[in-house]
Amino acid sequence: MSKFKRTLITTALPYANGPIHIGHLAGVYVPADIYARYLRLKNEDVIMIGGSDEHGVPITLKAKNEGVTPQDIVDRYHGIIKDSFEKFGISFDVYSRTSAPIHHETASEFFKKLYDEGKFIEQTSEQYFDEENKQFLADRYIIGTCPKCGFEKAYGDQCESCGTSLSPTELINPTSTISGNKPVLKETKHWYLPLDQYEPWLREWILEGHQEWKPNVYGQVKSWIDGGLQPRAVTRDLDWGVPVPVEGTDGKVLYVWFDAPIGYISATKELTENWETYWKDPETRMLHFIGKDNIVFHCIIFPSMLKAEGTFNLPENVPANEFLNLENDKISTSRNWAVWLHEYLEEFPGKEDVLKYVLTANAPETKDNDFTWKDFQARNNNELVAILGNFVNRALVLTNKYYDGVVPALGELSDYDKEALAEIGKIKAEVEKSIDNFRIRESLKNAMDLARLGNKYLADEEPWKVVKTDPERVNTIMNICLQITANLTICLEPFLPFSMEKLRGFLNLGKMDWEHFGSTELLPVGHQVNKPELLFEKIEDATIDAQIQKLLDTKKANDAANAVAKPAKENCSFDDFMKMDIRTGTILEAELVPKTKKLLKLKIDTGIDQRTVVSGIAEYYQPENIIGKQVSILVNLEPRKIRGIESQGMILMAEDADGSLKFVSPVDKVKNGSEVR
Ligand SMILES: [Zn+2]
Repeated sequence: MSKFKRTLITTALPYANGPIHIGHLAGVYVPADIYARYLRLKNEDVIMIGGSDEHGVPITLKAKNEGVTPQDIVDRYHGIIKDSFEKFGISFDVYSRTSAPIHHETASEFFKKLYDEGKFIEQTSEQYFDEENKQFLADRYIIGTCPKCGFEKAYGDQCESCGTSLSPTELINPTSTISGNKPVLKETKHWYLPLDQYEPWLREWILEGHQEWKPNVYGQVKSWIDGGLQPRAVTRDLDWGVPVPVEGTDGKVLYVWFDAPIGYISATKELTENWETYWKDPETRMLHFIGKDNIVFHCIIFPSMLKAEGTFNLPENVPANEFLNLENDKISTSRNWAVWLHEYLEEFPGKEDVLKYVLTANAPETKDNDFTWKDFQARNNNELVAILGNFVNRALVLTNKYYDGVVPALGELSDYDKEALAEIGKIKAEVEKSIDNFRIRESLKNAMDLARLGNKYLADEEPWKVVKTDPERVNTIMNICLQITANLTICLEPFLPFSMEKLRGFLNLGKMDWEHFGSTELLPVGHQVNKPELLFEKIEDATIDAQIQKLLDTKKANDAANAVAKPAKENCSFDDFMKMDIRTGTILEAELVPKTKKLLKLKIDTGIDQRTVVSGIAEYYQPENIIGKQVSILVNLEPRKIRGIESQGMILMAEDADGSLKFVSPVDKVKNGSEVR
């Protein structure tokens, strides 16, 4: 990378209609953060850009549903997102937002330049229009049946069932999502970026010029280009977004996918006056960290925009990740199937690095991967605690015990000592090789090899035994252990920044540059270290079980929300119905039937008499809470014995979608014995 003097890292802009979850982190922000921290540790000139994507139809629809403004929605989620990133330690140099004036200005200028230079095609076409609301229906404002798979709730821009990208006019039976009306076709003018004209150039630039890109990225780009590129609209009929900066275009804004990537430029402007150096100097290397759903936008559309503009650099690499699943199911915001970052931070205080570690060790770099809570626990307990934490703890505890925390001098080195020390440099080379090639998961494994080395060296040398026979030798062993520990603070700094800060505190050591990694004299003889605390703590089964239960509850709630009422039973005659004698009654007494979990023994005033009924409702009602409650009771059901108690009738219950039971009670109080019919 000698031809570059500096690096600009962009991270996909999270869409501000929900908080951040582990899928976002694993796909984009954790690898980008590790890479940026690594370059900073090497004293390279690097900036990392982030920000919220705040335009587009899903935000306006959410606002409409909640009866608030789109600005309210983006303010809420931008706040949550920015705050949780900060607490989690994603080290953006700037975290901006696309509703900021500087972005509106930048995106406007960008469009205007392309417009003035004739880089767009103007095209009038018929688009669906809601006559009741006097509004064109872009993207998700329209639903209908997918022409490919027949799914009845496909959106105007995409079918979420089969994944096909659609245009609203392709939908069968289109309906406005605002009014529910059938829309009419009406002429409207839009501007298009003629991607087809950029095809030969894209082939040369990527397919020939960037064969080093990750296979998943290169392959997707190739299939898009081979499939033939079409002109793509860059404007929309919508009232939320960056207004089209052309006279006579009221009610039109830039398409969110045109304005969002320009957000990287606006954010850089917000960060530094020197922004053009990062965007236009050919000695700057631009990297886009994104998830696989954004590949087409960052490898084809945005580069074509930059090419059309003419003065900007193009990305040097786009190390996109695949998707992370959660417990074998696709992560979904609408189904609440996710581990939310802001919730994790509250539920696992001080464990930012643990999540960062697990998401990196299990990163979906080459294929989709799965996050499970059991794996989270195992990696914490078996790797962070048992290898890394255990090694540094023993090294520091023994140093305190034998030398009052003063670093002892090296004596004569054995072959094994020399081997161990030489290994440090080899590990450094391995870490660099993988991280320089965006194999972040592998680089973490390489980095953890240093902790494994220390752990093994300590276990093999057994200073706690040697100290009894050859205390001189122990000086050398402990010096080597301490040098390995000091090297860990550099080696793992990009991956576990909070923990390494802690470890530097134990070692009484300042932060060191990457170039010092590999030195075997980081801690001088006579240096005083501190008494250590635990670097990582074990995560217990109960903690993990609670998280799994939380997901099970989500699944149950989703099932209940999606439950459909059972079809009606066969008809019965009026006379048959009238045979059932249902009355209202009041619960006088209630107690659990001994040795059962589900049964309550109730005494009911039916207006006719007072009688005993056994009812299977103990899981849903506490006896003390239902005394005095009015219920409906079938009084002429044949009495039967349940657990030795004669039950004289049956309390009517409504069974909810999740299987829980609720009393069927009169809304207003009635006299006991009133007939229900
Ligand atoms: Zn479909």
